[in-house]
Amino acid sequence: MPISPQDPHQAPGALKRLPLRKAAVLFIVAVSLCLCGLLYLQLEQSRRQDLAVAQVASSNLTRAMAQQAEDTIMAADLVLTSLVDWIQDDGYGAAQRPRLQRVFARRAQQLEQLHGLFLFDREGQWVITSLADLPRGNGVADREYFKFHQQNVSTVAHIGPAIRSRENGEWIIPVSRRINDRVGNFQGVLLAGIRMSYFDRFFKSFSLDDSGIMFLALTDGTLLARRPFDESLIGTSVAHGEIYQTLLPNATAGTAMLDSVVDGVTRLYGYRQLASYPLVVSAATSRETILQGWSERAFQSSVIVALVILGVGLFGWVFIHQVRNGERIEKNLRKAQRALEQIATHDSLTGLANRRLFERSLEIEFARCARQVSPVSLIMLDIDFFKRYNDAYGHVAGDQCLAQVAQVVKTCCQRKSDLAVRYGGEEFAVLLPDTDINGALAIAGQIRRSVIDKHIVHSGSPIGYLTVSLGCYSFIPNGNDSLETFIRRADAALYEAKNAGRDRAAVFSPEEGFAALMRSDR
Ligand code: GH3
Ligand code: MG
Ligand code: MG
Repeated sequence: MPISPQDPHQAPGALKRLPLRKAAVLFIVAVSLCLCGLLYLQLEQSRRQDLAVAQVASSNLTRAMAQQAEDTIMAADLVLTSLVDWIQDDGYGAAQRPRLQRVFARRAQQLEQLHGLFLFDREGQWVITSLADLPRGNGVADREYFKFHQQNVSTVAHIGPAIRSRENGEWIIPVSRRINDRVGNFQGVLLAGIRMSYFDRFFKSFSLDDSGIMFLALTDGTLLARRPFDESLIGTSVAHGEIYQTLLPNATAGTAMLDSVVDGVTRLYGYRQLASYPLVVSAATSRETILQGWSERAFQSSVIVALVILGVGLFGWVFIHQVRNGERIEKNLRKAQRALEQIATHDSLTGLANRRLFERSLEIEFARCARQVSPVSLIMLDIDFFKRYNDAYGHVAGDQCLAQVAQVVKTCCQRKSDLAVRYGGEEFAVLLPDTDINGALAIAGQIRRSVIDKHIVHSGSPIGYLTVSLGCYSFIPNGNDSLETFIRRADAALYEAKNAGRDRAAVFSPEEGFAALMRSDR
């Protein structure tokens, strides 16, 4: 089989070549996705950490608030308990009052949180107070705590909604106990007023952001104290809030991230119900404040990652650009190489193989046919009276004629392995591997007739048309054959065809000798 010009860049290399541009794009996308993924994981982890820390802080804060509320109420309650016992035993008659008043005053002084201690009789009139003078007025029969004790036989301490003191207008949280006579009849109420400002001061001692909230409320939801202080909210109910509705029924203490229905701010709420008193404390910090540090870190990390991705993208763009340029240059080089190969191995006028390719193919086919013990044939072709053609029609027409004959030769070479060659001047050769002499003669005859069928007018030819003479030779190579002998024998057959009168094909047969060897296809 004749060899064809090879493309050293294409054959196996092209299959193995990585689609570099695609690989680069994939790599950049993968790196970017990895970076984004890592950033997300890292930010998510640190966000969770910050929230967890805030939850612990919130839980600790509500624990401290609950402890402080319990201590404050308990101290007042202990005073009430001892005084109630005393009053129930000794009564509060005129003889007892001066001494009781002194004790009241001393106790109120001892406890910073106490606004005052007050003893009311059955009708709600002041009997004894820790203040120097008895207040004037209609008494406290209308107050919630008084009515509570009037109607409830229970002697445990009662904490009522915050009220304004009728003595000086100060906001107080009333802690009270019922006073009975020896048989359990209602004899009055003993009240310890706890300053709301005491809780305010305590709430303010914690550092909380502007949208932070702390409050103390009764278990029924009535608000007792709040930071920030808002007078209009004192006494209102927070029972409709999520803490009372869903959280407290499930756990007496905890934390939860909730959206405020009042201002729409999302806060982390810590809450705790007191064990000893019907009180609930809660503290809330806005999510924005909790995650402020995280937001700044997230912004910085995102900017860095964005810059890195931008850098990788830019680098990738330059890289892909370079690869594309390289590919373009390589493609042009391959094209140029193919053109060079074509020029080096083919004849420019006819497009047929030249002698260089012919000789290379001959060597290869000789070796192959020797291995396979297969005949190889050669047809040598020469245009008849071509000198006259040139003389009659000129060289340019002669060239066109050569191209036409070449086209005929090429068309008659059916098999892929056949090689049509411009051997020189107006001589052509046809190499026919795996073809015996009969096959070669048949193809020679076909070429000869096809040239005549072209009806190329040739005034210098006896028959008026262009004709060709052909010489055929065929043999089975044995591995030590001479290319020159092979060509010379086909050439000899051609010579004999010319001698015999042209426009014919002749065969060279070494056994039969030269003279008698003619066997025309006509
Ligand atoms: P014959 O072969 O029948 O014996 O006669 P001939 O006239 O063809 O013989 P010869 O080999 O002496 O002449 C060949 C001529 O072919 C000589 C030259 O002018 C012409 N020729 C060779 N190469 C080319 C070519 O490339 N172009 C043209 N136009 N003519 C060529
Ligand atoms: Mg010639
Ligand atoms: Mg000739």
